[in-house]
Amino acid sequence: MRNVKYLIIGAGVSGLTFANYIKSDYLIIEKENEIGGYCKTHYKDGFVWDYAGHFFHFKTDEFKKMFINKVNKNEIIKQDKCTKIFYHDNYIDYPFQTNIHQLEKSEFIDCLYDLFNKEEKKEYDNFLDMLYGKFGKSITEKFLRPYNEKLYAIDLRKLDKDAMGRFFPYADVKDIINNMKKNSTFSYNNQFMYPCNGAGSFMKILFDNLDKNNIILNTEVISIDSKKKCAKLSNNEEIKYEYLINTSPLNKFLPIIDNDKFGKLNSLLSYNKVLVFNLGFDKKSKLTSEHWIYIPEKKYNFYRIGFYDNILGTDRLSMYIEIGYSKDEKIKIDEQLRLTLLNLKEIGVIDDSMNLLSYESIIMDPAYVHINNDTDKKIKKFMRVINKKSIYSIGRYGAWTYCSMEDCMVNAKELAETLEK
Ligand SMILES: Cc1cc2nc3c(=O)[nH]c(=O)nc-3n(C[C@H](O)[C@H](O)[C@H](O)COP(=O)(O)OP(=O)(O)OC[C@H]3O[C@@H](n4cnc5c(N)ncnc54)[C@H](O)[C@@H]3O)c2cc1C
Repeated sequence: MRNVKYLIIGAGVSGLTFANYIKSDYLIIEKENEIGGYCKTHYKDGFVWDYAGHFFHFKTDEFKKMFINKVNKNEIIKQDKCTKIFYHDNYIDYPFQTNIHQLEKSEFIDCLYDLFNKEEKKEYDNFLDMLYGKFGKSITEKFLRPYNEKLYAIDLRKLDKDAMGRFFPYADVKDIINNMKKNSTFSYNNQFMYPCNGAGSFMKILFDNLDKNNIILNTEVISIDSKKKCAKLSNNEEIKYEYLINTSPLNKFLPIIDNDKFGKLNSLLSYNKVLVFNLGFDKKSKLTSEHWIYIPEKKYNFYRIGFYDNILGTDRLSMYIEIGYSKDEKIKIDEQLRLTLLNLKEIGVIDDSMNLLSYESIIMDPAYVHINNDTDKKIKKFMRVINKKSIYSIGRYGAWTYCSMEDCMVNAKELAETLEK
C-alpha cells in the first residue's frame, strides 16, 4: 500500500494550485484523462474553446503577477469588458439596473417609478425578496428575475439573499441616477485577462511545475475510510494518507466517505446544470465588439452567449452558449442545438450567409450550487467534522460555493500554507 502525506482528489485549478504550494510528498488522483477540470480548453478546427468562457478577473496582486509572469507575454490578452443585454430587440449595457435610461421611455419610467416606491427591508427572506426590495418590481421583473431563473433553473425564493456574493452587481438609487449622466461600472469584472490559447493553457503551466510521477490520470477515488486514513481507487489500489484534500464536487464526494455516512447532508444539496455549446462559423457576426451578452427573455433557450473571436481578435465567429437546467432535467442536445441556431438568427447574431463549421457540447454538472442559509450551516458543521479527521474539501464545488478560478487558487494556497506550517 502506497503512503503519501497529501492525497489530492482532482486536477482542476484547486488541486493543481494546492500541489504547487506544497513542497513534496503529494499524489493527485484525477478521474479524467487530462488535467484542468472545468478550466480545460479544446482546440477544434482552428477554434479555441473553453468550458464556456473562462476569463481571469484578478483581485489579488499575487495571482495577477503570477499569471503575467508565467504566461508568455505575447499570449496575454487584456480587455475592458464589453457586455450587453439583449432586451426587446435592442441592446442595452450591463448591468440592467444601472442602465435603465437606455430603455424605451415608458419602460424607463416604470423602472424609475418602482425604484423610488420599492419597499426596502432590513432583512430579506431570500434572493427574490432581496431583488424586489432593493430594485423594485419593474427592474426585477424585466431582467433580474427572468435572467436568474434561466441561469439557476430554480425558484429564486429557494436561494439565499447573498447567493451570488460579490458577483452580484449591487447599485443603489444614487448610483443608478448618477449613471444616467456619468457612465460608471458596477460589475465585479470590468477588466479581464485571458491567454490566447484558452484558460486551459494556464492550467498546463500549473501542471508543468509539478512532478508528473505524482499525478495519476484516468483514475477515480471511489471510497474513503476516514478512520484508517485510506482511500480506494478505481484501479483497486489503496492509498494511505496523512491529509486528504478533496476538490471534487461535494455531492459526489459525500457518498464515498465512510460508506455514505453523510448521505443526509447530500440529500439537502441543491444545484443546477449548464449545457454549453461551443460553435464555430465560417465568418464573423455583425456584432464585432461584444464579449458576452445576457439574454433574460424566456422565449430564447440560452441565458448568456459569448464571443471568443471578439476577445481573441480572430476572423471567424467563435461562440459559447450557456443554457441552464435543473439538476434532474433531461438534456436533449440535438433539440437545443436546433433551437440555439434558430434563436441566434432571430436575435441577429448570425444570418443565412453564415455556415456552422464546427461545434461541441459540454454538460457542466454541477454548474451553479444553490446557496441556502440552512444548508450552508450544515455544510460548515460537516467541514469542521472532517477537518478533525485531516480531510479538507476545497474549490468551487468541493467547498460548495460560488467563486472564480482565482478564488479557488487563493483558498488552495491558504490551505497548503496552513498545513505546511
Ligand atoms: C458556466 C460557468 C462559467 C464560468 N466562468 C468563469 C470565468 O469566466 N472565470 C472564472 O474565474 N471562473 C469561472 N467559472 C468558475 C470556474 O469554473 C471554477 O471556479 C473552477 O473551475 C473550479 O475549479 P476546481 O478545481 O475547484 O473544480 P473542478 O474544475 O470541478 O475540478 C475538480 C476535478 O476533480 C475531478 N474529480 C471529480 N471526482 C473525482 C474522483 N472521485 N476522483 C478523482 N478525480 C475526481 C474532476 O474530474 C475535476 O478535474 C465558471 C463556472 C461556470 C459553471
